Amino acid sequence: MITKLLEGHGRFRREYFEHERELFETLAVGAQRPTAMILACCDSRLVPNLLLNANPGELFILRNIANIVPPFGRHLANRSVGAAIEYAVHFLQVPHIIVCGHTQCGGLRALAEGPEKLEVETPTLATWLQDAIAVRERIARQWEGKPAEAIAQQLVFENVVAQLENLLTYPIVKRALEENRVEIHGWVYDLATGRIKAYEPVANEFRAIEMP
Ligand SMILES: [Zn+2]
Repeated sequence: MITKLLEGHGRFRREYFEHERELFETLAVGAQRPTAMILACCDSRLVPNLLLNANPGELFILRNIANIVPPFGRHLANRSVGAAIEYAVHFLQVPHIIVCGHTQCGGLRALAEGPEKLEVETPTLATWLQDAIAVRERIARQWEGKPAEAIAQQLVFENVVAQLENLLTYPIVKRALEENRVEIHGWVYDLATGRIKAYEPVANEFRAIEMP
């Protein structure tokens, strides 16, 4: 299996790197100036650079299980999300922050089924998903009697909205928004169609993004 990855690296060096040599040389000597910060799920089927056709240097990406943004100041043992947000807004001055979930999210499926079931084998994962527990409870009340699969699918969307709200608990994000230095976006990528839906706060719904 590792051989396949090493062969892939060889192909990257011979083809992509050679073709884009100038870009890589520029990136190596200058500072990064990414167009957006993306907070996405770890899922291997969601590949931000691929689906946005973005080159190295364009996306500042942080990934975790179920694209969760713990609210500011909480979970001091899990500082990586907050540190990346502050770095992106303060130092990189990214003009966009995108929370990107996806359909068929295994993390949210586990949340729909009850993270308490995860405590024995995967206690860290169970604790991590606690940050989305309020979203599950909101959905579970509305969706009482529905199968876990249906709840998980609805959670994909509700979770993105909840994480956008959590993003606003970061003083640096709130300030940048007020000063019109940053825009925040909530996206859901559909694994089956390859399409992205974006959250429209006024209508409170997700709509297919318009591609220029
Ligand atoms: Zn996922």
